[in-house]
Amino acid sequence: MTQQSPQDELIIFEDDHHDETPGNGALPWKMLVVDDEQQMHKATSFALQGFTFENKPLEIISAFSGSEARTILDNDDDIACILLDVVMETENAGLDLVGYIRDELKNNSVRIILRTGQPGYAPELEVISKYDINDYKAKSELTRTKLITALTSALRSYEQIKVMEAGQAGLEFIVQSSRELFQERSINKLAQDIIAPFAQLAYVSPNDVIVCGAHKSSPSSKAIVLASGSNLNIAKDSSISDLADNYKEVINNVFVEKQSNFTGSTLCLYADTPSGHKLAIASTHSTPLNFVTKKLLAVYGVQIAASLENTYLFEHINEIAYQDNLTSLKNRNGFLDTIQKSLDSGNRQCILLLIDIDNFQAVNDGLGHDIGNEVLKKVATLLQSTFSKALIGRASGDTFGVYLPSSTTEDQESAITNLYKAFEHTLNIGDNELPLSVTVGAACATESEDSANNLFKNAGIALKYAKSNTKGKHQFFDSAMDEQLKLRLNVIKELKGALENDEMVLFYQPQYCLKTNQYIGVEALIRWFKPDGTIISPMDFIPAAEDSGQIVHIGEWVLKTACAQQVEWLKQGLPPLRMAVNISMRQFKDPNFIDFVYETVKSTGIDPKYLELEVTESMVSEDAMVFIDQLSMLRMDGITVAIDDFGTGYSSLSYLQRLPVDRVKIDRSFIRRVETNAGDKTIVSLIVKMGHELNLQVIAEGVEDEEQTEVLLELGCDEVQGFYYAKPMHPDDVKDLLLSKS
Ligand code: C2E
Ligand code: MG
Ligand code: MG
Repeated sequence: MTQQSPQDELIIFEDDHHDETPGNGALPWKMLVVDDEQQMHKATSFALQGFTFENKPLEIISAFSGSEARTILDNDDDIACILLDVVMETENAGLDLVGYIRDELKNNSVRIILRTGQPGYAPELEVISKYDINDYKAKSELTRTKLITALTSALRSYEQIKVMEAGQAGLEFIVQSSRELFQERSINKLAQDIIAPFAQLAYVSPNDVIVCGAHKSSPSSKAIVLASGSNLNIAKDSSISDLADNYKEVINNVFVEKQSNFTGSTLCLYADTPSGHKLAIASTHSTPLNFVTKKLLAVYGVQIAASLENTYLFEHINEIAYQDNLTSLKNRNGFLDTIQKSLDSGNRQCILLLIDIDNFQAVNDGLGHDIGNEVLKKVATLLQSTFSKALIGRASGDTFGVYLPSSTTEDQESAITNLYKAFEHTLNIGDNELPLSVTVGAACATESEDSANNLFKNAGIALKYAKSNTKGKHQFFDSAMDEQLKLRLNVIKELKGALENDEMVLFYQPQYCLKTNQYIGVEALIRWFKPDGTIISPMDFIPAAEDSGQIVHIGEWVLKTACAQQVEWLKQGLPPLRMAVNISMRQFKDPNFIDFVYETVKSTGIDPKYLELEVTESMVSEDAMVFIDQLSMLRMDGITVAIDDFGTGYSSLSYLQRLPVDRVKIDRSFIRRVETNAGDKTIVSLIVKMGHELNLQVIAEGVEDEEQTEVLLELGCDEVQGFYYAKPMHPDDVKDLLLSKS
């Protein structure tokens, strides 16, 4: 037994009763004394009278048996330390209780000091380490000082364990909440969602928390409020200069110092990202933060920074995905998205214009892509200044969209008038003064209309219709257009396999020379004989075949069949006839087109000088450069080129001299009234003169009677083609016709 000082009496001799409730406001340390001897309880209370650890008093709870202690422990997981008698109702009641605490309650934080009745009794070492027992003392050697020392050390280790547990729980909490933050797609939402976990970690009310953001490129004073708790009563996007002084000061400071500040009465967590986004989360608080909380907040700051970077990245990607880089307008997706939001908000009085620049390809080809881009940018600016209240987007290459929400019928009509007015002036691009014309498809939302896609589709149908029927003008969508489109889609479907099923046939319409009074050529014209006996005109299926790309395949068949027919007629004893074959733009754009023509000439054995390709005038003006190059290559081989439907397109007559062509075919529409309409006669006369000046042959198509022929003769037209001379006919009929004439 050790020597004892006067105050160091054995506590077992003390029997005064003392108040066990803690004396001050701070939550006390709870200690459970488990002993079957009443006196031990009294002695312990006496010995620990006035005991405090880290300014917190002690609350002693008493239990007189192992089983009573179990009940207490079942209901209170806040007990810091147990002073435990080993022998009570049974030999091992104390050690059994320890086993219960650690194994069943899984309470590993409570500290345990064993007291044994007999000096010299020591539980086995194995038990001490297995059950994490802090200390064991014989009752007889437990002096007041020793008890206090043992308790102090037990409480210290309890506190550390609790801190570690809090740290671990805090980390788990941070990981959990960060997982959610990482999913955030908008900065404002992220800022809002940061608040609750922050408040929980920092032991503050979420209503007092404010989140401010700034970018490193701008001064901190430019920081704005991204989200705030309800007590602060401050609007999102407010400047931080509008905040209360304590917030303003600490937020400004952390932005400048680039580190969190947990020292003052307003704490502030700072986070920044590699790309320079900064965030400050601040709140007033009453209790000072402990070491663990500060560490946890720091970890949370790192997680916020990662989420912040992620969210900004996402927002940026979103911007790119919804914005057109060249014009900075919304791109098709962004445009559609915004229209959808407007429709969703109940807006039905709206109009969508799809504006297509006419012959934009010619600008690109003729003046280069840089100028083309400049034109697009200028058009974007022009539209923005013309429609200051509208949503403007770039729908595709050279098609822009103007969406006017809440517009009356008058607004809608004047929108179109204003649009065309805006394009009356030439665009100033570098050294070029460019006249531009546009074709417009318009669609209005209906009461039942609820999809931007549908509105867009309708305007697109109207635009398509306008482009092929009224280029340079506008068209409002109506459902008949939709019907037409459906029919076209149907044709596309039916066209599949038509060639392979031998449903396509070539007819040939003879061409007559007015100078020699002889048939000198034929034009190959395709016919579609469907299995049900109907004959479909090329006017009804060629546009669909062009749209779907099937024209390439069909066109190859036409070229091969026509060339082979020309050679076949020669064999049958007919004079050599010029074979004119219609070629679509889509075929010209096919990279194998030229090769295919050469191969066909070779494989069929046609003399290339008898092969003529017909291209329409509108095609030429659409893509002049592609044409000029390709036509020149073909002509080098002796193949001739005719411009079909001349006079209906948009190219000026002077355009002709730049084109490598051999023949001009005056469109049927001028011939129809050439003998009665002075204007048409003048045009025909002009085309003939101009053609001759450029050394081109001139042929008139659609000649239906004697009178027309006479006028054409008078005007000096070289050749004619029309029902008056011969209809498109089966190759055998051509043979009969020509053999009968020779
Ligand atoms: P196009 O090349 O201008 O062909 C002349 C059209 O005028 C033919 O119509 C012909 O039958 C018609 N026609 C000829 N003489 C007269 C006349 O005196 N009066 C009237 N009212 N019409 C006359 P078709 O065969 O219906 O062809 C229409 C269009 O279809 C052609 O116009 C051409 O652009 C296109 N086409 C025809 N076959 C082919 C082809 O194999 N490939 C391509 N890409 N297009 C073709
Ligand atoms: Mg033709
Ligand atoms: Mg024609």
